[in-house]
Amino acid sequence: MAFYSEDSGDDYLFKIVLLGDSGVGKSNLLARFARNEFYSNSKSTIGVEFQTQKMEINGKEVKAQVWDTAGQERFRAVTSAYYRGAVGALVVYDISRRQTFDSVGRWLHELHTHCDMNVVTILVGNKKDLKDAREVSTADGKSLAESETLFFTETSALDSSNVNAAFQTIVKEIYNILSKKVM
Ligand code: GDP
Ligand code: MG
Repeated sequence: MAFYSEDSGDDYLFKIVLLGDSGVGKSNLLARFARNEFYSNSKSTIGVEFQTQKMEINGKEVKAQVWDTAGQERFRAVTSAYYRGAVGALVVYDISRRQTFDSVGRWLHELHTHCDMNVVTILVGNKKDLKDAREVSTADGKSLAESETLFFTETSALDSSNVNAAFQTIVKEIYNILSKKVM
C-alpha cells in the first residue's frame, strides 16, 4: 500500500486534498496555510490546482502538497484524478451554514469511494470567527468526528486561528504511520 510518495532524496511528499461544499473556505484555508493570505471574494479558488508547503516533523523535512478543488465541487464533479494518491484529507464545513455540515457525510463517502479507508482525515469547522452566526455547535462537530474516527478542529482562515495546526495534525499523523511501517 502506498502511504506516501518519495520526492527526492530523504524528502517526503504527501498529497492532501481539500473537500467540502462550495463557499466553506477551502481556498482561503490553503491561501492562509501556504501564503499567509486571505481573500474576501472568491478569487482564491481560481487557478490554483495545488500548493506545496515545506514543514518540519520530528526534525525531518516533509512537503505537504495540498490540492484545491478549483470550484469543481459546485457541479458535484470532483474527478477521480483529484483523489488519486491522496494520503490525507481536510473535510471542511462552515460553522455558520448548517447545510454544509449536513454534506459532510457525502464528502466522506466520496473520499472513501476513491481512496483507501485509512486516508488520514480531519473534520474542519471553518469561519469560527463568525460567532453570532453560528449554526453548528462545537459539540456537534466533535461528536460527528468521534463517530467517524476523524481528527477535529475549528478554524478561521480570516483570523488564522488553528489553520496551521489543522495541516500539522494531518501531516504529523501521516508521518507517524509511515515511520511505523518503515521501522
Ligand atoms: P471555497 O469555495 O470553499 O474555496 O471557499 P473560499 O475560500 O472561496 O471562501 C468563500 C468565502 O468565505 C469568501 O468570501 C471568503 O472570504 C470567506 N471565508 C473563507 N474563510 C473564512 C473565515 O474563516 N471566516 C470568514 N468570516 N470568512 C471566510
Ligand atoms: Mg475554492
